[in-house]
Amino acid sequence: MNRVLVTGGAGFIGSAVCRYLVQEKQCDVLNVDKLTYAGVPASLKEIEDNDRYRFAKADVCDKEVIAELFAAFQPDAVMHLAAESHVDRSIDGPAAFMETNIMGTYTMLECAREYWNELSNDRKTAFRFHHISTDEVYGSLGAEGLFEETTPYDPRSPYSASKASSDHLVKAWFHTYGLPVVITNCSNNYGPYHFPEKLIPLVILNALDGKPLPIYGKGDNIRDWLYVEDHARALVTVVEKGTPGETYNVGGRNERTNLEVVETICSILDELRPLAGGNGGTSDVESGPSGQPHSTSHGSLPTSTKPISSYRDLICFVDDRPGHDARYAIDATRLENELGWKAQENFETGIKKTVQWYLDNDWWWKPLRASRYAGERLGRA
Ligand code: NAD
Repeated sequence: MNRVLVTGGAGFIGSAVCRYLVQEKQCDVLNVDKLTYAGVPASLKEIEDNDRYRFAKADVCDKEVIAELFAAFQPDAVMHLAAESHVDRSIDGPAAFMETNIMGTYTMLECAREYWNELSNDRKTAFRFHHISTDEVYGSLGAEGLFEETTPYDPRSPYSASKASSDHLVKAWFHTYGLPVVITNCSNNYGPYHFPEKLIPLVILNALDGKPLPIYGKGDNIRDWLYVEDHARALVTVVEKGTPGETYNVGGRNERTNLEVVETICSILDELRPLAGGNGGTSDVESGPSGQPHSTSHGSLPTSTKPISSYRDLICFVDDRPGHDARYAIDATRLENELGWKAQENFETGIKKTVQWYLDNDWWWKPLRASRYAGERLGRA
């Protein structure tokens, strides 16, 4: 696998994949990205001058342009990550999710199929179309059990429904046309270059600004967290070694409630960036009678200024996300046993690296907070 066409490579996971392919796997990469609000070319700074990396600004729904890119680049594999990815935004405006995630995947499949049909037999056999998907297609778990590759689909949000639709299209192109596809369904990622609308970077950056740390509902929803560079390694393992037509679940066996995640970030910040004098910070959050921040039934954030001694004092509970799935947890046995991948980071090591990265790299996130997303509440239906 020498030449890889990556879609969505200016996004959080796509940029980790591009960096890994160019720096560790010595692949030639063509990054095809529309540069929506979530596309950040600065995430590719480390490789932008590398001869093995090139970029095309294009929409995956634009069949003519995508077909030209296939013809010019002659990929050995496609790793299709381009998507609208934020559940809250899918509640506010589902149309872009249907367009990019469903029609964009359809367009990519058709362009790939037309290109693949013309390849020599050897290149045809070796070609892979890898669709990068989410565990959210499986719906919501109770207290027990794990998502397996055979778990029936049961998506609940416009985002997960659009990703489930695209997974079905990819499987149909395998069964109907024989296109050699692989699919991965991964749990929640975190790590460097994560757009500040998602829980972990939002909490780190709000904390550094002394702003409230909003937690949906009671903070008891559980996610299974995977460090993004472990995900990138998993994806490349699957595109290299996976069996066509198969699905592989990717997860780090790191289940945490949202409240645990936020409290862990606060503890790390208390250690790495202590508030002045142990109690010299101020917050926008009003303390409740027990020293706990007030919960705000309407999700509006309180505004009074009080001294705080720990970043935990910034925690505040807001209205839950509509249709908020209770628990996701992945069984990654198949990927581990059949293809030999294993996560290198656990949540404790990964989250510490992540907080440190945000402390060290304000050149990356400050312009995004200033111009694209400052932390306002999204997705309240
Ligand atoms: P992201 O939102 O950070 O990045 C998406 C990228 O796609 C951006 O660079 C954006 O500009 C680009 N894009 C959007 N619409 C496009 C279009 N029409 N044409 C071309 N480019 C377009 O997303 P992410 O978190 O990096 O997720 C990448 C993929 O992984 C998505 O398919 C997502 O569903 C999946 N996934 C994400 C997670 C997670 O925790 N973030 C977990 C599992 C799976």
